This record gives sequence, structure tokens and C-alpha cells, in this order.
Amino acid sequence: MQINKLKEEINNFSSDDKNPAEVFRIKFLGSHGSVKSLMGEMKNVAPENKREMGKVLNELKLFAENKWEELKKTTDDDKQQTTENGIDLTLPGDALQIGSRHPISIVRNKIVSIFQRLGFAVAEGPEIEDDWHNFTALNLPENHPARDMQDTFYVSQNPAWMLRTHTSSVQVREMEKGKLPIRIICPGRVYRNETISARAHCFFNQVEGLYIADNVSFADLKQTLYFFVQEMFGKEIKVRFRPSYFPFTEPSAEMDISCLICGGAGCNVCKHTGWVEILGCGMVHPNVLENCGIDSKKYTGFAFGMGIERITMLKYQIKDLRIFSENDLRFLKQFTSAV
Ligand SMILES: [Zn+2]
Repeated sequence: MQINKLKEEINNFSSDDKNPAEVFRIKFLGSHGSVKSLMGEMKNVAPENKREMGKVLNELKLFAENKWEELKKTTDDDKQQTTENGIDLTLPGDALQIGSRHPISIVRNKIVSIFQRLGFAVAEGPEIEDDWHNFTALNLPENHPARDMQDTFYVSQNPAWMLRTHTSSVQVREMEKGKLPIRIICPGRVYRNETISARAHCFFNQVEGLYIADNVSFADLKQTLYFFVQEMFGKEIKVRFRPSYFPFTEPSAEMDISCLICGGAGCNVCKHTGWVEILGCGMVHPNVLENCGIDSKKYTGFAFGMGIERITMLKYQIKDLRIFSENDLRFLKQFTSAV
């Protein structure tokens, strides 16, 4: 009975000690251990039972020794997995949260890369502008009615400064450098004092483009933009140009693409017209060229501008542009795999 109990105790042995094998050895196999002392009882066993008893006790000793070996092995494994500082290397690490690009960045990068393939270079400029670069040089003299088209945030301490209403100001800065030909695109954030709604915000992102050289024609403009929308939205896309008015281009046009949702049949997104407006463009107004010191008799050029939010909303079927600036991870995480 005592042997069976001991066997069970050995089998169920566990210890919180750093070295359970050693605790086990002392408890059972050491000179004062329970297995050893049980063997000491042999002298009290009747001679006719000695042989049988010896066998049982030997088995018990072997059983205990096997358990000891087992414990030593796990202790050795633990030693390898635990550093001297007590850091448990087997614990799972803290998972790194993989971020994703903002959909506006994804689309801006795509637009930039398409135009870079056509030889356009990226130009950047300040977001706080003066009247000359934002308006006057672009053929919007003071009191020009077109200034009302763009509600502007002025710097209250100095109303001569404002938050740029378009990235055309970057084009002016490039033209003033006087290095021709010019072939640039200007991505950047712009600001307008508009009521925030699903379709308008007080800040948004634009990409504007400018190409000035000898003999640049409206045909060049059309082909460039046609290439862009095909690369951006697919080869099946159709385009149309509608006459429009901008103070800085003449002639001016707005470009529509065939609706991506209904393919031109008519739906809510295209207001049942089959067409969606995506950008404004035109030939650079001679006054603008002259304002920037470029001979308008010698050089011609085209310019275009589009809102990145609008392109992104069309590309990803996003219905409310306010969500772009709300930093809602449930929205942003959907673009983890987008490129
Ligand atoms: Zn449609």
C-alpha cells in the first residue's frame, strides 16, 4: 500500500521551484529520501518475502529514476529558453500593427506615376500664398468676378497672405523661373471656405499639370488626358470635353469620363447622364504667360487640374468625402492591400 501511494506521489510530482529535478531528487532519491528509507525497511522483511519485496522496491527505484531523468530534461529545455535576465523567449511577441496608405495617397501616387511616364516632373510650393501667385498672375486682377468663384481663407494678421485655393500658384512659381520647356505636375493640399458636406470640404487635394513649349496644341492636351484616364480607369473608358470658363486658360474645357458604375447607361452616380466630370483644363491664357515673363508669341501651353478626392471617390465608390479626414480605422484598414 505504502509503495503504491509513493508511486502515485512520484507520478504526480510537480514543483514551482526553478529546478524541480533537484527538489525531486532530494525528496525521493536522496540519502534521506522516501525511496531510500523504504529500502532501509528491507531488514525488517521476513526472509521468505525478501526476494519479492526486493523486486518491487527495485521497480519503484527505477520508476523514480525515470521520472527524475524526465524532470532534468524539461529543466534543461527551460534553461535554453530563458535568458539570464529571466526573459522568457517562448512568450509570443507583441504583434506589429501593419498600417496602410491613405486612399488619397494611393490615388495621388498613381496619378503622379502616370504623368511621370509622360515626362512630367513633380513641383511643389507653399500652402500659404500671396495674392500675386494665387490670383493676379493667373489673370484674376483685383475685383475680377472670378475671385468670387473661390472663397478664400485670408490670414487675419496680414490679408495679403492666404491659404492657396489651388496649386496653380506652384505653376506660376515654376513659370517665373524662366526655364523652358516646362512639364510639371503639382500635387498638393488646397483650401476653400466652403460649407462642409458629403461633396465639399474646406480643404482638399489637387493635382494640376502644366506643359509649356513650342507648338503645344489642344490636341496634345486631349491626348495627354486621354492617356491618363485610360491608365487610371481602364482602356474602355470614354471621354468628352465640354466648353467651360477659367480665367487662366483660353479656350477652357471640362472633361467628363463615361460613368464607371453604369458604363454610360445612366445611374444615380452620374445623375442619369452616363458621364462624370473629373477635371478642368485648357490652353494657358497668353496674359498668364506674359505675367510670368514668358513670350506668348513664341510659346504655348496647356494646363489641367483635378481634385484627388473626386478621383478617389470614383475609383473606390466612396460616397462621402468627409470620411477621408476622419481617421476612422475601420475605413482606412480597407486599403491595406490596395496599391
Ligand atoms: Zn452612371
